Amino acid sequence: MTEYDVAVIGSGPGGYVAAIRCAQLGMKTAIIEKYSTLGGTCLNVGCIPSKALLDSSHHYEDAVKHFEEHGIEIPGEIKVNLGKMIARKQGVVDMTTKGIQFLMDKNKIDVYEGVGSFKDATHLDIAKTDGSTETIKAKNTIIATGSKPSSLPFITLDKERVITSTEALKLNEIPKHMIVIGGGVIGLELGQVYKRLGAEVSVVEYMDRIIPTMDAGLSKELMKSMKKQKVKFYLSHKVKSVQRKGDEVIVKADDKKGDEVTFTGDYCLVSVGRRPYTDGLKADAAGVKLDDRGRVIVNDHLQTNIPNIYAIGDVVRGAMLAHKAEEEGTMVAELIAGQKPHIDYNLIPGVVYTWPEVAAVGKTEEELKEAGISYKVGQFPMRALGRSRASMDVDGFVKILADTATDEVLGVHMIGARCADLISEAVTAMEFRASAEDIARMSHAHPTYSEAVKEAALAATADRALHI
Ligand code: FAD
Repeated sequence: MTEYDVAVIGSGPGGYVAAIRCAQLGMKTAIIEKYSTLGGTCLNVGCIPSKALLDSSHHYEDAVKHFEEHGIEIPGEIKVNLGKMIARKQGVVDMTTKGIQFLMDKNKIDVYEGVGSFKDATHLDIAKTDGSTETIKAKNTIIATGSKPSSLPFITLDKERVITSTEALKLNEIPKHMIVIGGGVIGLELGQVYKRLGAEVSVVEYMDRIIPTMDAGLSKELMKSMKKQKVKFYLSHKVKSVQRKGDEVIVKADDKKGDEVTFTGDYCLVSVGRRPYTDGLKADAAGVKLDDRGRVIVNDHLQTNIPNIYAIGDVVRGAMLAHKAEEEGTMVAELIAGQKPHIDYNLIPGVVYTWPEVAAVGKTEEELKEAGISYKVGQFPMRALGRSRASMDVDGFVKILADTATDEVLGVHMIGARCADLISEAVTAMEFRASAEDIARMSHAHPTYSEAVKEAALAATADRALHI
């Protein structure tokens, strides 16, 4: 029986990063993945394919709607070849997942294909696709089994027309009318993809705003911008049934007043969140405890109730984000190696890759109010930037929240072109506990979208914005 210092179950961004870091630190490492490709949800059916389709559909929308304004004329009709678009996306996925295989080989990590389960706290069974089972011994195990799309109890996901994000990434046709249940990140990103390609898109959301966990200002601005793109929103609507009739999907919901509203479409994307995934893991065989929501219970060191078993990523508490999983992967590897790493969860940024992009780090206004912290606001609109006017991406703003007494930056919330990349400046500043004035006094290249960060910081510093 092969013995390892560390065995990692699951090869998503949490698992594969943990494995690389363990190997870097000199530990004999194995990774177990039930699918034939590595990379987990993120690389196969999450972050990467969704961004590939967002990019392709963005190009198409630009060509149809904006090229003419730029003085670019294309003779003849501009058409979408959905098959080719989906194939390109798959090409990006294949290249990326092969890259993980390369990294495993480079770091001399043993890769096992099969379902990993606990035999006991130090032995793992790997059930392979050929029906055989191999058992390995591991001093330490890291559970990184991720998550799966969740649904509502009364919905039957037929995966043809009543679908999750996984199917939405490989449709054979452009929907005529896609009903999106859930106005969170995944629903909005994929809704925008199909809206750009020509579908009618209706977003039905239970809460009174979209992206409800983000700062309310961002929800409002994103909805305004997506409404201009003709996405329809139905807020405070409680979906109560989803029925398939031939090629039609009928969704019934109660509105705020309790009146029934019926939506008829040809596809319904159910994007109501994700659930932690531990099916087949036999966590109980090792004595590992789960909470009432099915998450593996961990302490501040991401250690389960069994000291040599750790858990990271979507399968534990906290934001379900690839970069959060990666940080936890690194942290656990370093803890096992005897180091003292730390993660500041307040500084894990959240991003929505719609256009305009939405990004945030730190506290929202709502959270600061609730905590009774006195703060000041500096906000700067994207439309006041030369760079935004040059590219005609004028929607959005950057908002900086700083402590009234100390000027320390407590939260940064932004919406606009390239905000997914811009947010890193805010994360860096907050990691070093910068004041708004610190950011305001730094030179930002002109013309760039990043000038909005400087201007918002100036606005937060005694209302000193220069270009508004
Ligand atoms: P996962 O990536 O889910 O990986 C878990 C792996 O474990 C899987 O490969 C699974 O097959 C394997 N596994 C499970 N059980 C076993 C077992 N018993 N034996 C062997 N293998 C097992 N996050 C972002 O930060 N940015 C984004 O832009 C973004 N976009 C997204 C878009 C979509 C459409 C979706 C669905 C998600 C997106 N996410 C995004 C979320 C992101 O994908 C997850 O947060 C991330 O993948 C979590 O990583 P993980 O390592 O915890 O688990």
